[in-house]
Amino acid sequence: MDYIIIGAGLTGLHIAQALQNRNQTYTILEKSKGLGGRLATRRIDDLGLDHGALFLDSIDNNLTLETISTDLGHYVPGGMNQIAKIMAKDLKIMKEQKVTKLKPQNQGWHIETEEGLVLESKNVILTAPLPQALDLLSQNHLAPNENHELHSIKYTKALILLVTLESTENFSSSIFEGHHFQFMKERKLHPKGLVIQCSPEFSEKYFDQAEAVSTDEILKIFKRSPLGNLKIEKLELKKWRYSRPMTTYSQKFLELYPGLYLCGDGFGLPLESSRVLINHLL
Ligand SMILES: Cc1cc2nc3c(=O)[nH]c(=O)nc-3n(C[C@H](O)[C@H](O)[C@H](O)COP(=O)(O)OP(=O)(O)OC[C@H]3O[C@@H](n4cnc5c(N)ncnc54)[C@H](O)[C@@H]3O)c2cc1C
Repeated sequence: MDYIIIGAGLTGLHIAQALQNRNQTYTILEKSKGLGGRLATRRIDDLGLDHGALFLDSIDNNLTLETISTDLGHYVPGGMNQIAKIMAKDLKIMKEQKVTKLKPQNQGWHIETEEGLVLESKNVILTAPLPQALDLLSQNHLAPNENHELHSIKYTKALILLVTLESTENFSSSIFEGHHFQFMKERKLHPKGLVIQCSPEFSEKYFDQAEAVSTDEILKIFKRSPLGNLKIEKLELKKWRYSRPMTTYSQKFLELYPGLYLCGDGFGLPLESSRVLINHLL
């Protein structure tokens, strides 16, 4: 195999598309059941709610999808996860394969997953959020301890409350006290769905509290908001330990060892980082 890509998010899918177009042999290994990573749409009552990124700062113009541009970024009616679904069409992806072991071997790389898959490849591209990528590298004694810049890239946390309301008539999305209140009906998703994406400061403060405590705190914000009198039917809390990088690395990707590449939003916008890596590789 020429390439193993770790992660089927925006970055991994974008790279895989380019490799496929250039007839390179590759496979994507993805630890989750679903695709898209932080482009996540979840179902309540069989109707969707975006519970990862609500917007993307940059989007691929070649996407055969309706995208809506706003001051806050671009979104996709029908769910942000549609982006991943469209991009993943015809790509070679193995889901539920969490890479745990990585070591140099025979001028390439030996990879093992928690599920027992063993593969070898000339090149490996790691697209997980940088702190997660560094954890994997450090478990395999590959972390570049001397590279302080790499270790200094931190991500904001995100607490998200998915809510279904009795009615959402006469209300539209807004930002209240720094928290995003996003109505899913505007995205052709759950007509009664509201996603409350808490501010980075609030999320940091309550992230490690018990779920009941953080949920209560978010509900206090909801009560203070202009929606406060609406009756909540269902709610679900979602946590992202790594939501967005606070700063990015000074290069668009990093070849840490020969054939081992780090790429993704820790290096700039995902599509930009992957495009620069693709140009370097192909
Ligand atoms: C709440 C929230 C709000 C956001 N808001 C915005 C915004 O307004 N604007 C914007 O531009 N961006 C925003 N983002 C960030 C945006 O979602 C990401 O930049 C983008 O989706 C990153 O794509 P990626 O492929 O680089 O990483 P990811 O989507 O994280 O993909 C990495 C993939 O790697 C997989 N993986 C990790 N470790 C392993 C392993 N060991 N083995 C196998 N697979 C593994 C993961 O499961 C994941 O699918 C937001 C994100 C969140 C969570």
